[in-house]
Amino acid sequence: MTRPTLVVAGNGMVGHKLVEALAERGGLDAWRVVVFGEERRLAYDRVALSSFFDGATEDDLTLVAPGAYDEIEVHLGDPIAGIDRAAGTVTSAAGVQVAYDALVLATGSYPFVPPVPGSGLPGCFVYRTLDDLEAIRHDASGRRVGAVVGGGLLGLEAANALRNLGLEPHVVEFAPRLMPMQVDDGGGAVLRARIEALGVHVHTGMQTTELAAGDDGRVAQMRFADGTSLDVDLVVFSAGIRPRDELARACGLDMGERGGIVVDSACRTSDPRIFAVGECAVADGRVWGLVAPGYDMARVVARRLLGGDAEFAGADMSTKLKLLGVDVACFGDVSTGESITFSDAVNGVYKRLVITPDGTRVAGGILVGDATAYTTLVQMARGDMPTPDDPAALIAPAAGAEPVGVGALAGTATVCSCNNVTKSAICDAVAGGATDVGAVKACTKAGTSCGGCVPLVTQLLNHELAAAGVEVTTHLCEHFAYSRQELFDLIRVHRIGTFAELLARYGTGRGCEVCKPTVASILASLGAGYILAGEQAALQDTNDHFLANLQRDGTYSVVPRVPGGELTPDQLIAIGQVAKDFGLYTKITGGQRIDLFGARVDQLPAVWARLIAAGMESGHAYGKALRTVKSCVGETWCRYGVQDSTSLAIQLELRYRGLRAPHKLKSAVSGCARECAEAQGKDFGVIATEKGWNLYVCGNGGMRPQHAVLLAEDLDTDTLIRYIDRFLMFYVRTADRLERTASWFNKLEGGIEYLRRVVMDDVLGIAEDLEADMQRHVDTYECEWKATIEDPEALARFRSFVNVDGPDPNVVFVRERGQIRPARQEEKPTPLEVLL
Ligand SMILES: Cc1cc2nc3c(=O)[nH]c(=O)nc-3n(C[C@H](O)[C@H](O)[C@H](O)COP(=O)(O)OP(=O)(O)OC[C@H]3O[C@@H](n4cnc5c(N)ncnc54)[C@H](O)[C@@H]3O)c2cc1C
Ligand code: SF4
Repeated sequence: MTRPTLVVAGNGMVGHKLVEALAERGGLDAWRVVVFGEERRLAYDRVALSSFFDGATEDDLTLVAPGAYDEIEVHLGDPIAGIDRAAGTVTSAAGVQVAYDALVLATGSYPFVPPVPGSGLPGCFVYRTLDDLEAIRHDASGRRVGAVVGGGLLGLEAANALRNLGLEPHVVEFAPRLMPMQVDDGGGAVLRARIEALGVHVHTGMQTTELAAGDDGRVAQMRFADGTSLDVDLVVFSAGIRPRDELARACGLDMGERGGIVVDSACRTSDPRIFAVGECAVADGRVWGLVAPGYDMARVVARRLLGGDAEFAGADMSTKLKLLGVDVACFGDVSTGESITFSDAVNGVYKRLVITPDGTRVAGGILVGDATAYTTLVQMARGDMPTPDDPAALIAPAAGAEPVGVGALAGTATVCSCNNVTKSAICDAVAGGATDVGAVKACTKAGTSCGGCVPLVTQLLNHELAAAGVEVTTHLCEHFAYSRQELFDLIRVHRIGTFAELLARYGTGRGCEVCKPTVASILASLGAGYILAGEQAALQDTNDHFLANLQRDGTYSVVPRVPGGELTPDQLIAIGQVAKDFGLYTKITGGQRIDLFGARVDQLPAVWARLIAAGMESGHAYGKALRTVKSCVGETWCRYGVQDSTSLAIQLELRYRGLRAPHKLKSAVSGCARECAEAQGKDFGVIATEKGWNLYVCGNGGMRPQHAVLLAEDLDTDTLIRYIDRFLMFYVRTADRLERTASWFNKLEGGIEYLRRVVMDDVLGIAEDLEADMQRHVDTYECEWKATIEDPEALARFRSFVNVDGPDPNVVFVRERGQIRPARQEEKPTPLEVLL
């Protein structure tokens, strides 16, 4: 029996999804499928298009599995030029005529170029297809200034692309803020500051009236309504999209008021034989400009073509993007309800959470600069996860509340909205044998489009595997199929010096917030030099980035090193004077140091300079590094002391200062068994005995406190230090990311006996190697604060991103017990006052 013919116009993301959805449901046995595509290539990932300028190839971007179109008649580079509805035929530009029983229009949209005189000059481009990007790349070589017309999501991506091509990028936006469709004024201001700090020039509230040509006939100048102008060598238009409805319009199908092909809930046009899906369609009164709703429409039509009755029910327009390295996300409904706003202009973080009018649920929100809470918040906004009593904690900087576990997610919760994959589908895939993210992606398609849900998919996978008693993969993240320990060895053995080199040799993609700081820490442990040098700087997380501890109000605290807790009166006075001059709150820490709170990022270098001048240095209180070696006064002053615990503490602290590790490290030395320095609660601790020193290891444990275990007794000082060198380096090399010594020890097969054999008996034959690594660390140590204030390039990073003078209005202090403290919410101006 001959099959009826389905013609698909367009092989973009949605046209391809339709073919795929049909094939998955056995539809190729029921239909003969003929595809016409205007572009020369089969469907590719337009969402990831910009990665083309980041090194991705055409093959990396393809959406089509090998063999997927073997049974399909495809005409590429040959658009459909006309539809004869009465005859039921389409005719292509090359003259191919096909009779159809059903026709699906998936022609997408085209970039809108405003009717500005000169917009067609050579040197002007749009940003939609791989061909567009190839043309921009070809033209950009040797040019200096590139401008993007449009400061929306795509405009900012295009500006980044120009930056990657070596041009000085400018963004010209008609609206008074960037991303006017996605973020509000507060978010727009923070976004602008972040983007300007990256070297992109932003011009908002500017109307381009004309593009003028130079002597060579190419675009040379942009002229604006306010009489100003900008000299340019290349212009990219990114001023919105318009549905490609010309075919449908010409054959008399119903059109939306502002264009687009009107469809019903079955995605059927006014002609029952013709469907429209994706960005060319107007469904439920609007064009849905994201890929997820397009995919939903494709699935609806695939089911309809096979006799089903699926309907397109609208879609969640939540989006999370990384623009020039800045997270931007918006979700749910932000139009009604009460807002809770957190704005940290210093760090470029803006978060607005909208609560339903009855105050019980998260309705929606906007996140700029830090979107870590996005996946959880989206699930709450959809009602798939309970909202906690104190929703403000969800956007507080320290993320005060523990993240809500994936276990709390309802089975019906949509995890991947691009591909409409629920939690249950992922759990079923894991139960069916998928044991890594790749396998879950392959069988559910979750995470295969925009990739925003991959962290949640990973969490779910690990949760399900753990629940089933399966050992969870130790792969660091989807970019490296190695554990932290394996990466450490690879970096060390192959003397790899940069993240880029490691990625090129052993990774895939471009890295993420898991692998970047981990590799940065490994490189730092192996003495790869100054932590903020070149590419290293971009890998660090916030604390390391600013060499200070970010506190809940967006200011920083500064902790100078006080080895062994010993401080001269002059140094004490210097700390007091700095605190007084900069108006900082001071507190003695639990680790015998003085913490100075409330410094703005732009004040940090000046604070450090003063402390350095008084003979102090960075205490690394911000890093996953050695923090303190606490001490008592020992035999020098105490009548019970049997050894000089202070001198040893100072010696140990100076030896291991700055050592980067999988987690922060604390230590202590007590002068006798009375244990005033609490050495048995530390990652490594020493207690004096009549005969020498007892060494304890793997205590502390953080949230699950654990006592340290005795490793060796009555050691002389040289042996003690040799054992600590070996112990620390063995831990640094073999523990997982963010694994404390206590949990590393708990997993160590053979426990303390094995550790003794490695550290004391050298059964692995690596002792010399471990000691050499530690010696290299000791020899190459430098104070990061000092290195920073001596490096003008690094110093440039320490400025407030606020583009107006004066203090950040959201940082408010009140006085308590004679010092400052951050204002509580009720003591601050209302969110509305902050926003306006
Ligand atoms: C740079 C960029 C970044 C983006 N980022 C995101 C993002 O982060 N998240 C998100 O959800 N969305 C994003 N989008 C939007 C997303 O790409 C679109 O929603 C999606 O591609 C729409 O799919 P479509 O099939 O409707 O249109 P398209 O993918 O544009 O495909 C339409 C195809 O039809 C072809 N065609 C047109 N007319 C004819 C004809 N007469 N005959 C045959 N073929 C024809 C076109 O040449 C094109 O190949 C981004 C888009 C761009 C350009
Ligand atoms: S630990 Fe011993 S030596 Fe140190 S202060 Fe306490 S009692 Fe004195």
